[in-house]
Amino acid sequence: MHEIKEPLSFSFSEENGWLKAVFTHLKLSFQGPVSIGLEITKDKDIIFFQGHLKVSLTLPCSRCVENMAYEIDEFFSPVFAHGKDPHREKAELSLEDLDITYFDKDEIDVGEIIEEQVGLLLPLKPLCSERCQGLCSACGQNLNEKRCSCKKEVPVSPFHVLKGFKVTGTKKIKKKRS
Ligand SMILES: [Zn+2]
Ligand SMILES: [Zn+2]
Repeated sequence: MHEIKEPLSFSFSEENGWLKAVFTHLKLSFQGPVSIGLEITKDKDIIFFQGHLKVSLTLPCSRCVENMAYEIDEFFSPVFAHGKDPHREKAELSLEDLDITYFDKDEIDVGEIIEEQVGLLLPLKPLCSERCQGLCSACGQNLNEKRCSCKKEVPVSPFHVLKGFKVTGTKKIKKKRS
């Protein structure tokens, strides 16, 4: 028998000062409302979080560095277990597939959890557009706005050292013309 208490439900918005601090700490700015729903269920020493995050962030494009809007509308469900040793007695639930974070403090910082989840939901390389031309590597011109006058760098072939390398001692095979 599991001791499952009533799930605790929370909802946070940008009105919550600490939530603003979370985004400031992550060096992120958002446009418009932030909405986070969180439901916490405890089963013995295991704490299940089920959350939903909806926010429109302002992120710099990874190619042209222009600010762009990036929508996050995702669910997350981290699991925490109280205790130090991750390989102690097996829990009755099948937890093998769950990604569990162990904690040995008496309390969990919800702000920290949200900060981590937001970090996980961020794109590695945000792009303003799949066709973003990025910046010129020589003069820094945003190539989406206009072309620059820098010469296009010709990629160096890995075989360029073979250029002008004369092969001697082999017979030239004459092609027969039909
Ligand atoms: Zn871009
Ligand atoms: Zn240039």
